Amino acid sequence: MSQLNPGVVTGKDYQLLVKAAKEGGYALPAVNVVGTNSINAVLETAAKNNSDVIIQLSSGGAQFYGGKGHTDTFNTRVLGAISAAQHVHLLAEHYGICVALHTDHANKELIPWVEALIEYSEDLYADQGVPLFSSHMLDLSTESLEFNLDESKRLLKRLAKIDMSLEIELGITGGEEDGIGSEDNINNPNLYTQSEDCLRAHQELSPIGHYSLAASFGNVHGVYKPGNVHLRPEILKLAQDLVQQECNTGLNPLDLVFHGGSGSEQHHIDEALSHGVFKMNIDTDLQFAFAKPIGDLVEKHPKAFKYQVDPETEQPYKKIYDPRNFLRVGELGICDRLSQSFIDLKCAGKSLAPI
Ligand SMILES: [Zn+2]
Repeated sequence: MSQLNPGVVTGKDYQLLVKAAKEGGYALPAVNVVGTNSINAVLETAAKNNSDVIIQLSSGGAQFYGGKGHTDTFNTRVLGAISAAQHVHLLAEHYGICVALHTDHANKELIPWVEALIEYSEDLYADQGVPLFSSHMLDLSTESLEFNLDESKRLLKRLAKIDMSLEIELGITGGEEDGIGSEDNINNPNLYTQSEDCLRAHQELSPIGHYSLAASFGNVHGVYKPGNVHLRPEILKLAQDLVQQECNTGLNPLDLVFHGGSGSEQHHIDEALSHGVFKMNIDTDLQFAFAKPIGDLVEKHPKAFKYQVDPETEQPYKKIYDPRNFLRVGELGICDRLSQSFIDLKCAGKSLAPI
């Protein structure tokens, strides 16, 4: 496999990353980040596992990155996404791995957010010949197929010109994430994407530029009690086979994305990988992995989070309440859980950047 320079990959290099994953039978975890703590923990874990990785921002994550307190939420979301991406650009090469930068679900209301980010990348591309992100996502799966594909084509035309990709969604991911989706649609038949819709999307989008497809096979955002999620990865195979047959392509022509990867069983992951999934989104499990060790720390040293100096023993607690202490404990929680994902997705040791 040809090798890539470490750092953020876009355009042909990004597509090479996708191709290598599919041909190699592995996928990359796509981690939703909200700050430098989560970004650095992802870079650290990817480097330790000698794997490339996908870092992404939801609109809510971008807003948080830009500052939750700012009242101009629109521009905070735009600037937060740009700021996070710039942080990744500065550090990815330093960690010696390839990083793809994505934005996550953008519904109809969030199209202006995506367009503002595209505009930024267009300016950057005109100036430096590279975009800021590798791919943006449009999630118009709750709109009509016509609207979904028309908007996807409109944006992909702009993205293709600046070496960027687009991720689209057909069929909905259940559950709720950052205000998108709802938790009471678990029995919705739209949780299973129709192969015919995938075929039509491929016929309309692939001549324009590179795109990836979040096809639903019962996926749900969040982690629920067992029995509430019925994953059917064979849905992905039906779509791949139809496109292969109708468009006369090779095996697994669609570049598929697995949403709602948290809490998934290994046999479902394995089957999804065999059907051309190159990216699995993981958010909820890592939120918990960050929070739990901090909770444990507070439980172990309850007084250190109430007093600067112990009122009885006069012991100073500075080393415990120093944010670098408890935030690092959270970062290590992310590293532990994410390391497991690199193994589950079979991407450990597969970085395309030379060691
Ligand atoms: Zn998702």
